[in-house]
Amino acid sequence: MNEKGEIKMSKDYIRRYGHEENGEWIRPIAQEGEKYTYHWNPEWANDPTKPILKISKSSLGCFKWCNKQYEFQYLDRRQQEQTLPMLKGTTVHDSHENFYETVDIKKAEKMDTSQLMNYFSSLFPIDDYVDLTQKMVTHEVGRFIEAKKENTLENFIPVGNEVMFDTDIVILPDTNKNYPLTRPYVVHLQGVIDRIFREGDTLIPLELKTGPWKDTNLSGIRREMAFYTLLLENVSAQEYEEKGLPNLPITHWGWYYPATNHLTIEEKKKSTITALFKSIAQLIHAYENNLPDNFKATFFHKKCIPHCSYNHICPAAINNETEGEWF
Ligand code: SF4
Repeated sequence: MNEKGEIKMSKDYIRRYGHEENGEWIRPIAQEGEKYTYHWNPEWANDPTKPILKISKSSLGCFKWCNKQYEFQYLDRRQQEQTLPMLKGTTVHDSHENFYETVDIKKAEKMDTSQLMNYFSSLFPIDDYVDLTQKMVTHEVGRFIEAKKENTLENFIPVGNEVMFDTDIVILPDTNKNYPLTRPYVVHLQGVIDRIFREGDTLIPLELKTGPWKDTNLSGIRREMAFYTLLLENVSAQEYEEKGLPNLPITHWGWYYPATNHLTIEEKKKSTITALFKSIAQLIHAYENNLPDNFKATFFHKKCIPHCSYNHICPAAINNETEGEWF
């Protein structure tokens, strides 16, 4: 972060926070030269000098969770307090990334199970999350023994380890019948994929989650994997090469919740990717119809009070209104 409170995200995007002035919240605006932004105006669609809409897995997930929260977080750019689950997520993701960067396969190949446990444990830090990382160690030892038996140790380390991808896609006017658009739009997708494994001649994106697995997570995590799949399927061959990844098809996706020893690898679902396109169209529709109450609050006590850091400024939470459905 620089002295102006700006966070440099990539060469084409700078995160700027809004600020309060005389009791009014001042949103940041897109800057000249920016290629993509959340501070987007659909009227710029015909002007190649203007930025296009940026969409990340988190921004789309936030919009889906609550349109109003999207407004607070991505349009107003109000800072969020870092919660303990957020800190845990960042720390454990870094530890797992570092594990794959440092593990020496040749060295591990000569070890028995107990030596592997000690060796893999030594590659994770001793921090507040040792209970969780020990489960990850046991999981990785199991994977390693299996891969050795199957003679596939070359695929033990992911071909992609926390890799950021960028791509542009087109959303057509009739993508979502409930939220028709006035024209086609090019939007920019960006995401950091936790892990990408090679399996035969295919790639499998895999998401790590540090909370416990619940069956109610299923549609949300599938949406996240659909986002990554759409991203990977649209990046250029040149970007694959630059990131050192083989340009192979994606037939499966997966998720790993070490807290509950839950791992799922399943065939990618076309219906989830179609639903993802519809969500993107709905988001663009909200920008197109940029009215003051366009980004609607969907208040539910058990959703908003423990999980939304804007509940102290959200009129719906303050008035304890109940409107709309959430899922
Ligand atoms: S408190 Fe609830 S309704 Fe208000 S912004 Fe947060 S999630 Fe949305």
